Amino acid sequence: MTTPEDIRHAQPLDSLSIQYIKGVGPRRAALFRKKGISTVEDALFFLPYAYEDRRALKAIADLEVGALETFVGSIFAAGPSRTRRGRLYQIIVGDETGRIACKWFRFKDAYFANRFGPGQRVVVSGRVGTYGLHKELHHPDIEPLDEDDDASEWLHGGRLVPKYSATEGLSAKLLRSIMDNVVEGYADQVEEIFSSELRREHGLLPLSEAVKTLHRPGDEEDLEALNRGTHPAHRRIVFQELFLLELGLARRREATQREARSVTYTGASALRRRLLDSLPFALTGAQRRVIEEIDADLRGPHPMNRLLQGDVGCGKTVVALAAACPVLERGRQVAFMVPTEILAEQHTRTLGRLVEPLGVRMGLLTSATKGSERRGLLEAAADGSLQLVVGTHALIQEGVDFAALGLAIIDEQHRFGVLQRATLRQKGYTPDVLVMTATPIPRTMALTVYGDLDCSVIDELPPGRGPIETRMVSVNRRDEAHALIRREVAAGRQAYIVYPLVEESEALDLQAATAMYEELRGGPFADVAVDLLHGRMKAEDKESVMRRFSAGETSVLVCTTVIEVGVDQPNASLMLIEHAERFGLAQLHQLRGRVGRGPYPSHCLLVAHYPLSEDARARLAVMAQTTDGFVIAEKDLELRGPGELVGTRQSGLPELRFANLVRDQQVLEEARRAAFAFLAEDPALERSDHQAMKRAFQRQWSDKVGLLEVG
Ligand code: ADP
Ligand code: MG
Repeated sequence: MTTPEDIRHAQPLDSLSIQYIKGVGPRRAALFRKKGISTVEDALFFLPYAYEDRRALKAIADLEVGALETFVGSIFAAGPSRTRRGRLYQIIVGDETGRIACKWFRFKDAYFANRFGPGQRVVVSGRVGTYGLHKELHHPDIEPLDEDDDASEWLHGGRLVPKYSATEGLSAKLLRSIMDNVVEGYADQVEEIFSSELRREHGLLPLSEAVKTLHRPGDEEDLEALNRGTHPAHRRIVFQELFLLELGLARRREATQREARSVTYTGASALRRRLLDSLPFALTGAQRRVIEEIDADLRGPHPMNRLLQGDVGCGKTVVALAAACPVLERGRQVAFMVPTEILAEQHTRTLGRLVEPLGVRMGLLTSATKGSERRGLLEAAADGSLQLVVGTHALIQEGVDFAALGLAIIDEQHRFGVLQRATLRQKGYTPDVLVMTATPIPRTMALTVYGDLDCSVIDELPPGRGPIETRMVSVNRRDEAHALIRREVAAGRQAYIVYPLVEESEALDLQAATAMYEELRGGPFADVAVDLLHGRMKAEDKESVMRRFSAGETSVLVCTTVIEVGVDQPNASLMLIEHAERFGLAQLHQLRGRVGRGPYPSHCLLVAHYPLSEDARARLAVMAQTTDGFVIAEKDLELRGPGELVGTRQSGLPELRFANLVRDQQVLEEARRAAFAFLAEDPALERSDHQAMKRAFQRQWSDKVGLLEVG
């Protein structure tokens, strides 16, 4: 006879509902689903967020002041009381050796109601403090114990106890019992994806062992490593997650390497020679090196797929243009894509100055390009007579056809996500692709978000740039900041005053920026040329404001973050950022990069409005300390934490559940090497002993199929 038990065992864990676990019925199953846990497999990978040391339970008399201690006792009295300082909830716990008070100063009545009464056995853990001569605990963890249940006593005390994040209806204690049932019943069945050789090579525990250890750590396990998430059992799971991620990236990369290029470029480019000769400066060593790296790609057998990283102002634009030269010379078209219209217009001006004298026909195509001008440009793109097209990403989304697109340059990639490349490919183009970003990406990020690209770095600024001094200014000393602006303007320099603009409160923010502009123009800057720039203005208005600022006709530009990326005015030497606390680090760095582009010493003034969160304070402190984009990027990663990385959400990559890119850098690099080597041996994941791996891979990348062509 087939029992329900057999049926359960025959089913793969990822389709076995959590409802069949002992202790879980339909009602609790619904609560689990709210936590994102619907199957037994989900539950097995619902890992404790911390562990508590209940190996050595102490007698109450032996509790040490200042230490984190755990003890078991019985409740003598429990209830709310009122003191001069307000309400508190107090529970007195005792054992044979003494009594101690546990106090909660912030509490919900509902939490304590009917849970704790005299005689109830409890396990308590927390830091021991003092009140006068007495020891006491404030806000400890406290859980009821069932007196007659030995198993429960063992499960919830007397060992390293896992802590699961509890929610309404699923208490920590209940979760622990249920999770113990899950592990007991199914941990042995989790599917291993790594061969024993691979595990040996990388020092990996078998998966089922890792899962068991994390849910039921033995007394001998390293508590600290468990709590830091660096235990070998964690490492095993993190490695697997990162391995599968990198495997996907390796496949994407491999897909580009299967493509053959339609034109190969050989020899020196006369056009480039003329371009470089016309520049008023010599390229930096880093710029020259990167151009060589690009040339090697252009001479290679496959389309280029390269990320160019370089801090703001390092000179990526000329490098991109140098890359475009051989392509243009061979009669291919180049698309130069930027995230905003303002930037597209600016690029058109700067690029135009450089390439039009060389006879290159270029055009600007954005959503603001209308009517016959638009039709003309579209025709010229389609018949190939338009050689260089600058535009926003609308360039590839809308119906723009190219006769022969040879190179796509995607500037300021962090605003785009990685999807653009996929879009290009879907339209049937397989151009060389150069992605440029000024957001310095920590190495770990580069290996994930851009893990399928080759990477070049410009790590040198052009010589002769003035230093930037950054400081915080409190709101009530804004006058001094304005005085500094007036001094700079009197010396012939220009300044930006930037307002934050967030989508949720866009209308209000715009109002604030506009009001401030009027106020400044009427008051402190009455005798100074001031302009206003924001994204809602008409394209031609924006363009004329930018033109006036570039020409030095306006001295102070009040603007929203539209100027964040790419705007280049070397004469600007001061930036005042209002509500600096509302910006992220990467954004502040981008903004600040608009000054310090000329030989003059520059200032960046961060006006912070109180109250400041701790995070905001930390961000502003980082800004005041360093102008090094890579240091800032690392700090950013640290402050944001792994859940919220720049770009990962739009990047079209699976989300990381276990890996922490700050903590797990080394694991990432090892997993990446392993994944690339693995794929080299079995590119289509065809080998019979790789089928479990293939399934896990397809599952992790399942909703990304469109991007990936998972085989
Ligand atoms: P980003 O890398 O931020 O895009 P840009 O390409 O806008 O930087 O360059 C910033 C400024 O530096 C521009 O005015 C550009 O003309 C100038 N520049 C670029 N390369 C050099 C160089 N080697 N020496 C001096 N100035 C340079
Ligand atoms: Mg740029």
